[in-house]
Amino acid sequence: MKSRAVCWTQFIKFNAPDGYKMSRCMKCGKEYEADPFLNGTNAMNVHMRKGCGDKQGTTQQLLNLGKTGVEGEGTLTNWKFDQEATRKGLAYMLIVDEKPFKFVDGMGFKYFMPLCCPMFNIPSRRTITRDCFAFYSEMKEIEKIFSKL
Ligand SMILES: [Zn+2]
Repeated sequence: MKSRAVCWTQFIKFNAPDGYKMSRCMKCGKEYEADPFLNGTNAMNVHMRKGCGDKQGTTQQLLNLGKTGVEGEGTLTNWKFDQEATRKGLAYMLIVDEKPFKFVDGMGFKYFMPLCCPMFNIPSRRTITRDCFAFYSEMKEIEKIFSKL
C-alpha cells in the first residue's frame, strides 16, 4: 500500500476517451493503463525509480499553424504545462465569457478538462472566485496605467 501512495505523487489519473483508466507521469508525460483491477502500480513504480525521462519536464513540441492554419507553414514551438498560468487562463475565461464560478464544478467541464490537460488540477469554486477577483483588479490596474498614457 505504501508504494501505491508514492506513485500517485508523480502520476495523475485520467480517463481515456474510450473510458479506460489511465495514468500520466507529470514529469515526462509517459502514459500507463491504470485500471486498479487490471493493472498494478508496478510499472509506474519502476518508471519513477529509473524509467522517467523527466529531463524534458512536461515540455511538448506543439505544431503551431499560425494565422494561416495551413499545414506545412507551421513552426514547432515548445509548450510546458504551467498550473498557475492555466488557473489564470481559467479565471480569464470565466470573466470574459461571463461564466458563473460554479462553472468549475460543472460535470461537462470536469469531463472536458482532463481530456485536454490531465495535469491541470481544477481549482475549487472558492479558489477560482479568489483568482477571478485578483485577475479583475489586476486588469483594472493595467487599465488605469494605460488611461494615463
Ligand atoms: Zn516520467
